[in-house]
Amino acid sequence: MSDYEILDERFGRLIHRPARLERLWTGGRWTEGPVYVPAARHVIWSDIPNNRLMRLEEVEGRTAVFETPCGHHNGHTLDAEGRIIACEHSGRRVSRLEHDGRWRTLADSFNGGRFNSPNDAVVKSDGSIWFTDPTYGIDSDYEGYIMPSEQDGAHVYRLDPASGALTRVITDMVQPNGLAFSPDESLLYVADTGATHVPGMKGEMRVYPVAADGASVGEGRPFATCGAGLFDGFRVDRHGNIWASSEDSVRVHAPDGSLIGRILIPEIVSNLCFGGPNRNRLYITATTSLYAIYVNTAPAR
Ligand code: MG
Repeated sequence: MSDYEILDERFGRLIHRPARLERLWTGGRWTEGPVYVPAARHVIWSDIPNNRLMRLEEVEGRTAVFETPCGHHNGHTLDAEGRIIACEHSGRRVSRLEHDGRWRTLADSFNGGRFNSPNDAVVKSDGSIWFTDPTYGIDSDYEGYIMPSEQDGAHVYRLDPASGALTRVITDMVQPNGLAFSPDESLLYVADTGATHVPGMKGEMRVYPVAADGASVGEGRPFATCGAGLFDGFRVDRHGNIWASSEDSVRVHAPDGSLIGRILIPEIVSNLCFGGPNRNRLYITATTSLYAIYVNTAPAR
């Protein structure tokens, strides 16, 4: 059985048909937030209910616990210096792993109230960190701890780590989750997993035009609806295609929004990232496991 469903030849050019999906590790409860660290040639990801970070050493293929407990980390990304930026559920903060090995708080509150539970983050070329703050880490004692929200909703924020300036950039979503910029950073894509809290809502991804100031966005519009379950985390390749998580596969949407193909995954996909020395290996977190597959594209650099 093929690992692919090719719906459009544009997708056919983005994959290596003989390349097979590999399960590199299993044994987690809910894995998320993979990030590839080029200088270390390792992948770090979250196993949220177990309150731990896992690490795959890419050359030898060994996996070990990287850190536990850890504030129930969820999403991760890298900044321009190669430092890991983390979204923490029970930590209720965005933090950064400094070169000395310590986690430093970058932001933990807005207008005097603690964040809900930062979920996923992306770093823009100007160094700003854009992150989502849904309530999953304070809704239960499984992926964090039950705690009251101190915000008036779940929003998207922009943090300038140099000045500490923190602004709300999107306030019209229910549960903003994964997010990523288009290669030229003129567009910001954000998944809304509000269907977990609003009956009848669909898994949708919205797209927002980045304003001329580069620090805010204009009015958003629907970009794509998920064909199975919900979009959670996703990444954008150098051609602007969106590689998105879903219940049954990694779904690839072209910049025009059309679904052009799928990589079939035997567990519910939560998130993914491009890795390897050439960034052409897709690392995929899906429920209990870490998967990988080589693809014929890479993110913009
Ligand atoms: Mg997420």
